[in-house]
Amino acid sequence: MENRDPARPGPGPATRLLHPDAGTFAWGATLPPVFQTSAFCRETAEEMEAQFAGKAPGFLYTRLGNPTVAAFEAAMCEAEGGVMAAACASGSAAIAVTLMNLLSAGDEIVSASGVYGGTLDLFRDLAPFGVRVKYVDRLTEETLAAAIGERTKAVFAEAVSNPGLRVLDVATAAKAAHGRGVPLIVDATTVTPALLRPLEYGADIVIHSSSKYINGNGSAISGVIVDGCAFPWNADRFPALGEYLRYGKGAFSARLKNAVWRDIGACLSPVNAFLNLTGLETLCLRMERISENALRLARFLEEKGVPARYPGLASHPDHAIAARQMTGGMAGGVITLRTGSRGAAFRLLNALKYAKLVSNIGDTKTLAIHPASTIFAHASPEQKRSAGVYDDLVRVSVGLENAEDLIADFENALKAV
Ligand SMILES: *Cc1c(COP(=O)(O)O)cnc(C)c1O
Repeated sequence: MENRDPARPGPGPATRLLHPDAGTFAWGATLPPVFQTSAFCRETAEEMEAQFAGKAPGFLYTRLGNPTVAAFEAAMCEAEGGVMAAACASGSAAIAVTLMNLLSAGDEIVSASGVYGGTLDLFRDLAPFGVRVKYVDRLTEETLAAAIGERTKAVFAEAVSNPGLRVLDVATAAKAAHGRGVPLIVDATTVTPALLRPLEYGADIVIHSSSKYINGNGSAISGVIVDGCAFPWNADRFPALGEYLRYGKGAFSARLKNAVWRDIGACLSPVNAFLNLTGLETLCLRMERISENALRLARFLEEKGVPARYPGLASHPDHAIAARQMTGGMAGGVITLRTGSRGAAFRLLNALKYAKLVSNIGDTKTLAIHPASTIFAHASPEQKRSAGVYDDLVRVSVGLENAEDLIADFENALKAV
């Protein structure tokens, strides 16, 4: 598949992921060595002093930086077209430190409703710190104009929401947020840079749970924040950035890396960075195959008369946005379907042979879950409604199996429903 973006001359995204600027590593290794060490020593006290003063390059302590983790951060910058990246122990940690970097007590963020359940929990748990979250159903010029106030510090949304499958019109949301002096933060976990690079559409900060498609094998939990360094941070709206405002458009990442991110200590382990780097090498190929499989399965379900929701289907309310915004019209691997009742959903899940019952998405294998009784078990009825989590809903994260086998598996399991 031709996977080139006219807005980004040079090699295509798959080539970029396989041939990072850094070239090969020590001894000609074609993969980065895993620097599985807590700390890095210096020959002299003078060198140590210079290092601590930030006057010498190199690494000190893995919580503050590690060569393998840095290679993953550089690869994510390259993949997203970003300038700075900070890897984290999980996607949730990436969201938490991003918000902590911007917010003070009394501040607000505006979020798309129907975001990932763990993110809703995090937003709720920010309340004791005096942080309020205003939810908006659809991020448009009008809804954002009404929601963004004086104390709003960011607009947050998922590129394709999990599990609601709403598609964010990134350019529209970015324009509306910027018009009111606020950055747009996009959780792009479900799309990955293989399908959409939100920075190119005007988003300011991209976050991933790289535990999902970026790692790709379900072998490690991790997260990453990528900053486009294009937002004009200023002291009036963002006093929390304090002394780091002198870095101008780099202020967010400067404070993140030198303060909040390192203080919280949710650093990525070097081994997990390595696993993500090997995952990134095949990301474009996997997302193509996953998108193709998901489209075939969604079409099969629709033809069978099963209410299936997938942004790649013409029947999806946001299909036009997905088709216009995503590389090659690919729509990723998450499908939801309605089974008629909770009992029917359980029967379907129990009858599936290949789809594994697990709570995550973005594995090589097909995964399925009943969100209402699991990842949304603690959500309010209103949160469930706005996330599109109905009692009969099943979420499927389509994997890399042969599409015919997946279709046969669902055809058979649907008989149990
Ligand atoms: C999984 C997920 C997260 C949380 O990431 P973890 O790595 O599990 O902490 C955040 N956002 C989305 C869209 C996710 O799917």
